Amino acid sequence: MLKFDVLIIGSGLAGMTLALHLAATRKVGLITKRDLLEGSSTYAQGGIAAVLDTEDSVEEHIRDTLIAGAGLCNEEATRFIVEHSKEAIDWLIALGVPFTRDDTHKTGYHLTREGGHSHRRIIHAADATGAAVTSTLGQKIKAHPNITVLEDFIAIDLITSRKLGLEGKRCYGVYALDKTLDQVVTIAAKHTMLASGGAGKVYLYTTNPDTATGDGIAMGWRAGCRVGNMEFIQFHPTCLYHPHTKSFLISEAVRGEGGILKLPDGTRFMPDHDPRAELAPRDVVARAIDFEMKKHGLDCVYLDISYKPANFIKEHFPNIYAHCLELGIDITQEPIPVVPAVHFTCGGLVTDLTGHTDVDALYAVGEVACTGLHGANRLASNSLLECLVIGKAAAEDILAAPDIVLPKIPDWDDSQVTDTDEEVVISHNWDELRRAMWDYVGIVRTNKRLMRALSRIRLLSEEINEYYSNFHVTNDLIELRNLVQTAELIVRSALLRKESRGLHYSRDYPDMLEETQETVLQPAQH
Ligand SMILES: Cc1cc2nc3c(=O)[nH]c(=O)nc-3n(C[C@H](O)[C@H](O)[C@H](O)COP(=O)(O)OP(=O)(O)OC[C@H]3O[C@@H](n4cnc5c(N)ncnc54)[C@H](O)[C@@H]3O)c2cc1C
Repeated sequence: MLKFDVLIIGSGLAGMTLALHLAATRKVGLITKRDLLEGSSTYAQGGIAAVLDTEDSVEEHIRDTLIAGAGLCNEEATRFIVEHSKEAIDWLIALGVPFTRDDTHKTGYHLTREGGHSHRRIIHAADATGAAVTSTLGQKIKAHPNITVLEDFIAIDLITSRKLGLEGKRCYGVYALDKTLDQVVTIAAKHTMLASGGAGKVYLYTTNPDTATGDGIAMGWRAGCRVGNMEFIQFHPTCLYHPHTKSFLISEAVRGEGGILKLPDGTRFMPDHDPRAELAPRDVVARAIDFEMKKHGLDCVYLDISYKPANFIKEHFPNIYAHCLELGIDITQEPIPVVPAVHFTCGGLVTDLTGHTDVDALYAVGEVACTGLHGANRLASNSLLECLVIGKAAAEDILAAPDIVLPKIPDWDDSQVTDTDEEVVISHNWDELRRAMWDYVGIVRTNKRLMRALSRIRLLSEEINEYYSNFHVTNDLIELRNLVQTAELIVRSALLRKESRGLHYSRDYPDMLEETQETVLQPAQH
């Protein structure tokens, strides 16, 4: 058995932030299911939204966030996070994150502007901000004597008072699979934090890395936490469609610089959907592409910038040009095949402003959580900011908490299970689930499609739970169990919303209601 003061599950920006704020006085265990730097945080390109310029203001950043969130943002959470944005960026700068400089600007840094922001307020490190941040913080974490990093450890389930037959509703750590030794390990902790990211892999196409399988949402739900706003799934309209690549974004700047969306026969379709055509907001473009793909039975549509001079394209989009060329697509000569793809999970485990969940000593920070900041639609570049601000607040809450003595925790009992006989059950169900979610719970929803998805999910869930009870756990089985659980939470939440708002669009209820209400699911009594 391993023991820590604080156990952190996940090594993205949320987990790293918490670890570094605690390590001076606490023994921290940081488990991560692949290597330290693998997670959405490292792939973030654009940057981090923060009020840094004196011409910008906290009030305007809050207003932009509330507008994007379509009436569902929690104003208190939004204010708290935005008010702490400068402090969060100062912390990163002090740690040595190499943000892009601009000596002509009074802040000394180059700030960009993204859709929905009324000011230039996105601080970035070229077009690879996430990698610059996580590699800088990752080095500090590896060097810290109080932080034990356990790579290739996947958390299976939280250890709660209920599991131990104790009074109350508290978390005491986690059972995790050490993938290298193929052994389940008990990890006891006085405080546990879920920093396990989002759930993009629930869908067939996603910009998220393979780690985003909703593990933390599912574990928290099973442990007795409420989940909120799960129906709000943000789609990026243009992800490269190619059998030999995954999760590669074709930046919105390509449309901004004149890229035209076309059907395979070359017909332009965006003007039929919105007067702003290709420059319409993300959700409008994603919905239009989805409509055309379903109408014509297409696997993808095309984004064409090839009519611009080759030098212009290479200069503005060096990474996209190089990546596509490697796959045999010369974007200076031909259109780029694209599909919309899931980008961000706005909902998650309901927390307060210190990241605390409904279970004592259990915190959730980052994309796994729902503080209410993102409402019904996330404002670009607010998510990394949330990891930083709530991560620090959670650390302060943990530091102020009274000490406890850990109870006796039994080891994982796998005496009743055997080795799996048919791996194909897992891969088949994994594909079926992601396809069903894509087809029935995608960008445009109907009651009929949602009900169809729910009945498929329930069948899959039964089969997977039976499998889970009978066979040794593996990485894929743990993830599949969580994917199915998360998918069910998304569909149940979508069925409860009888309107179209933000990222949730229902053909049965195309209008937005006057009254605003969060969707909160209550777990079974514990
Ligand atoms: C391509 C892309 C570009 C983006 N660009 C931006 C941007 O410019 N600005 C912005 O603000 N946001 C951006 N986002 C969103 C942002 O990156 C994420 O919301 C944010 O990084 C989430 O951080 P996190 O720490 O919560 O999760 P992650 O960074 O995803 O980290 C999750 C961690 O948990 C681990 N984990 C998961 N399950 C388990 C388990 N069961 N056991 C052990 N470990 C586990 C994973 O291995 C990983 O280490 C982007 C996202 C993507 C995918």
